[in-house]
Amino acid sequence: MQSAIKPRKLVRGAAERFWSKVNKSGDCWLWEAAKQKEYGWFWHNGQGVAAHRFSWMMHYDEIPEGLHVLHKCDVKLCVNPNHLFLGTHQDNMKDLMEKRRIANDTIPIVKLPGHTSLDDVLVYCNKHNLRPTINCETKMWVLRPMPRRVK
Ligand SMILES: [Zn+2]
Repeated sequence: MQSAIKPRKLVRGAAERFWSKVNKSGDCWLWEAAKQKEYGWFWHNGQGVAAHRFSWMMHYDEIPEGLHVLHKCDVKLCVNPNHLFLGTHQDNMKDLMEKRRIANDTIPIVKLPGHTSLDDVLVYCNKHNLRPTINCETKMWVLRPMPRRVK
């Protein structure tokens, strides 16, 4: 169950405290504070949020319903926004690999709640300002936010 979080409100004023808990000396920015289930855990305004999800929200925006923030680097404690991408739960991906294949039979599309065809996925992406791209390593479609100007 994901709680409905208003990212802008949630992340306000959190950046300094958030990054003080992160070791940025390497390519992966490692969370060095509280953990829960192997993931970094950040408390802010009385609310606990997975640190990588929080990092995502600070840099991009809301996490669309039903999607997860995943690691390109497979380092669960990493909160480097450049290493994060949106995707579905792994089980869904596996499930989908077996059930739904397109084109050359190797690239499954992401499974979205209530969305069944590639057209549906594209409509979903437009609506949420996401861009579907293929992850070269996993051959999975992933949804990335459309580039936004960073101040
Ligand atoms: Zn990383």
